Amino acid sequence: MITLALSKGRIFEETLPLLAAAGIEVLEDPEKTRKLILPTNQPDVRVVLVRATDVPTYVQHGGADLGVAGKDVLLEHGGEGLYQPLDLNIAKCRMSVAVREGFDYAAEVRQGTRLRVATKYTAVARQHFADKGVHVDLIKLYGSMELAPLTGLADAIVDLVSTGKTLVANKLVEVEHIMEISSRLVVNQAALKLKRDRLRPLIDAFATAIPA
Ligand code: ATP
Ligand code: MG
Repeated sequence: MITLALSKGRIFEETLPLLAAAGIEVLEDPEKTRKLILPTNQPDVRVVLVRATDVPTYVQHGGADLGVAGKDVLLEHGGEGLYQPLDLNIAKCRMSVAVREGFDYAAEVRQGTRLRVATKYTAVARQHFADKGVHVDLIKLYGSMELAPLTGLADAIVDLVSTGKTLVANKLVEVEHIMEISSRLVVNQAALKLKRDRLRPLIDAFATAIPA
């Protein structure tokens, strides 16, 4: 049995064409069922639905043989025990620093102000500001980062941006681009050895179907 870990939403939707290229069709719609294990048209392949941040953990510990996870999630996890053969070029966005309209980020940085930064991505944020030599106090959040600068919880946030509409709607501006984000295929290293005959063709089929 091959177990693939996916999160509901954009990653599930954007992985479907890659699965199709490998001849795999998921037989139930995650938005309509309450099931967490979904069968496919291949009797030896199943999909497990987990939170996006839990995908690397499932794959690392063998709860799934492979999975699809964002670079953001993988950087926070650390990637330990994971083989990362493919950048799938799906679920694309960027990780950025944003502040409230009217907050002069460049001036604060120039003056050496200690900034309070709220984010779900503390590892990436810590590294980014250390590289720039900017002193920060990081505040860990699990969602709705946009609210932090508006309520005075933080001076800045580090968050994912795609269209920028959420920032605009909350009167925030993007002031620094940290990195481009896309999702990657992650494979359990032991599974790759033990189930190589089944996994290798699957990885190769995925590779042929990566969107431009
Ligand atoms: P949840 O929404 O359940 O709290 P999550 O935000 O981690 O969890 P998703 O919103 O499905 O889950 O995001 C999954 C992945 O998709 C992220 O890890 C990231 O790589 C990518 N992603 C997140 N936001 C965007 C976006 N606005 N545009 C494109 N890709 C995104
Ligand atoms: Mg989300």
